[in-house]
Amino acid sequence: MEDARQNVASFINAQTEQVLFTSGATESINSALNSAILAFPGRRHIVTSEVEHSAVISYCDHLERSMGYDVTRLRVDSNGELPPERLEAALRPDTALVSLIWANNETGVIWPVSDFAEVCHAHDVPLHVDGVQAVGKISVDFEECGADYLSLSGHKLGGAKGSGALLVRQPESYIPLIRGGKQERGLRGGTENVPLYVALGEAAKLCRSRAPGAWDQITKIRDTFEEKIAHQIPGAKVHGKTTIRLPNTISLYLPGIDSDAAVTYLDQKGICVSSGSACMESAITPSHVIYAMSRSHDISSETLRISLGLESTKEELDHLASELVTLAAIYS
Ligand code: PLP
Repeated sequence: MEDARQNVASFINAQTEQVLFTSGATESINSALNSAILAFPGRRHIVTSEVEHSAVISYCDHLERSMGYDVTRLRVDSNGELPPERLEAALRPDTALVSLIWANNETGVIWPVSDFAEVCHAHDVPLHVDGVQAVGKISVDFEECGADYLSLSGHKLGGAKGSGALLVRQPESYIPLIRGGKQERGLRGGTENVPLYVALGEAAKLCRSRAPGAWDQITKIRDTFEEKIAHQIPGAKVHGKTTIRLPNTISLYLPGIDSDAAVTYLDQKGICVSSGSACMESAITPSHVIYAMSRSHDISSETLRISLGLESTKEELDHLASELVTLAAIYS
C-alpha cells in the first residue's frame, strides 16, 4: 500500500503523507467538504458552481437544506468558462469553502485551478478541486495547483472501480469523515481495500510512464470528427469548442434529436455514448451542465456525451460520424 501511495504521490507531485486512499471520488469529495467546513464552524457560506458532479451538488444541497448553510452556485459562460473574477466576487468573510471542478465530466472544459487557488488564498478560504476527469488526461501537479484538497477516482486512470484518493495539503489539520480504527494514519477508519489501492498505484505508475504527448493523437482524431460533423449535420455544435478542453470528451448538440433516442439508436449499432453524466442518468431532467451553459431545455436534452480512450481509433470515430449523419437524415 505504501508503494501504491508513493506511486500516486509521484504521479501528481504530492507528498506521500498527503495521499489518503478512499472508496472513490464520491467519498473523497464528501470527506474534503466535511473537513473544510468543520475547520471553520463559524463560517456558514459555501461557493461552488452550477456544473459540478452530483457528489459535490448533493453534499452542498445537504449543507444548505439540513445544516442551514448558504450556498452560492456560480454561473458559467455559454462556453462553460468560469472567470476567476466571478469567483472572487462571490467570496464573503463567512465563506468556509470553495469547491470547483477541474475538468468537466460532460464537456471536458478545463478550468484555471491555480488562478482559483490564488483568489481563494487571498481571502483565506480553502479550495477543494474535483480532479477526477483531469488526472491522467492533463498534467496535474498537486504542489503547484494550490488546491487544499484534490479528489481523484481510480477507475478514471485505469484502476479499479470503487477506489480513489483524496489529496490533502495539510494532513495534520484534516478532520476525518469516517471514524474507526487507526488505518490511514487515523484519517480514515476501516480495513483498507489493499488490492484496489495497489491497482490504483499501478495505474498511476503507468500514467506517469506515458509519453507526454500520449493524448495528442486522440485530440487529432477528435478534431477531425468534430469538423466532419460540423460540415455534415446542419446546426450541430460542440459545447465548449472554443475553450480549452480535455482531449477525450465531446459534448455534441444535435438539434432536433432527442439524446436518449440517439443513445438507443447508436447502441443498436454497437456504439456506446451517453446523454449526460452516468451519475445523473436516472434523473428525468436533462443535463444540468448543458442547461447551465445554454439556458435551454431543448439544447440540454439534445446533447450527446462522447468519451474517447487512449485506444480509440479514427475508424471508430468515422463509424460514429457516419451513423450520426444517417440519424440526422432520419430526423430531418
Ligand atoms: N467527479 C467527477 C467529475 C466524476 O466524473 C465522477 C465519476 O464519474 C465522480 C466525481 C465520482 O467518482 P466515483 O465514481 O469514483 O465516486
